[in-house]
Amino acid sequence: MKRIVVAGAGGFIGGHLTKELIKKGNSVRAVDIKPLNEWYQVSEEAQNLVLDLRLRENCYQAVNGYNEVFNLAADMGGMGFIENNKAACMISVLINSHLLLASRDCGIDRFFYASSACVYNGDKQTDPKNPGLKESDAYPALAEDGYGWEKLFSERMCRHFMEDFGLTTRVARFHNVYGPFGTFDGGREKAPAAISRKVIEASITGNKEILIWGDGLQTRSFMYIDDCIKGIISIMYSDIQEPINLGSSEMVSINQLVDIVEDIAGYKLERKYDLGAPKGVRGRNSENTLIRKYLNWEPSIPLKVGMKKTYDWIKEQVINDSGIKKGTNRYNK
Ligand code: NAD
Repeated sequence: MKRIVVAGAGGFIGGHLTKELIKKGNSVRAVDIKPLNEWYQVSEEAQNLVLDLRLRENCYQAVNGYNEVFNLAADMGGMGFIENNKAACMISVLINSHLLLASRDCGIDRFFYASSACVYNGDKQTDPKNPGLKESDAYPALAEDGYGWEKLFSERMCRHFMEDFGLTTRVARFHNVYGPFGTFDGGREKAPAAISRKVIEASITGNKEILIWGDGLQTRSFMYIDDCIKGIISIMYSDIQEPINLGSSEMVSINQLVDIVEDIAGYKLERKYDLGAPKGVRGRNSENTLIRKYLNWEPSIPLKVGMKKTYDWIKEQVINDSGIKKGTNRYNK
């Protein structure tokens, strides 16, 4: 049994990871800045701490006495959030830097950092038929302004803490993750959840139109949460010393994603396009040669399968109007 810290455990991926690590028999300390009643999932078996990990002393309190750290804490959201909150996104650099210092000083054995496909050079993402971003495509650097630059810098901090201080660090570049217990409203939601919510609301109210950000031809790949959790754990305990893609290579356009959601809902809508809305890069996909080579595995849960589970969960939340997962950003204030 290991003693493991999950930073950002009140969020989408951190909540699922905490559950899985406990299931595997580990003792988990779950940490997040949000008050406990706003965590997406709370594991009673974990030691749950509410701490602002931007502060150095809180990072020492968070990791002290434990063996390993998974850092999933960041001030983040979908394109609507990261295009309009660049400074807030960059301040997450304090979380990873202070966690690294605390991990070095408190004798942590292994450290995982959640990076993002937003580190990739924008010039390599101008074609909707993107052949897939390979790990070397992060350089020469031209990351997503704000959020992507913070991720790239923090990746490098992990590398230098390994080289200079001998702290074992692992870095995965997540490509869009979706699934139950993810943000689906409030301004931080990403395309799969936002589109599901819009279709659900339209089918309840009888609305016949859906507003899509951009022209709908921009492409992405989406990874179901179960693949993400399996990948995080495999990468953490692997020998992979360089940042590696963790994403699906099933690329779709946003229009195709809407088709999938409409099929699940059994409800067709007239599409209106908001060309002025934040839309991000033109084409993005995960190139998975490296992860296949190292792990003999890659994320493979089909989008239609994952979207059905996600849609059903969001529908339940919308119908119950439970008010959980409003994507609050109170920690910015
Ligand atoms: P999330 O917003 O659901 O979870 C992040 C959590 O970090 C939140 O609960 C938030 O309260 C917490 N947090 C923020 N600031 C904090 C602070 N100062 N101290 C302590 N906790 C703080 O996001 P997620 O989707 O679960 O993402 C987890 C990680 O994966 C993040 O680093 C994110 O950048 C990265 N990532 C996610 C995706 C995706 O598609 N979800 C894609 C690429 C990278």
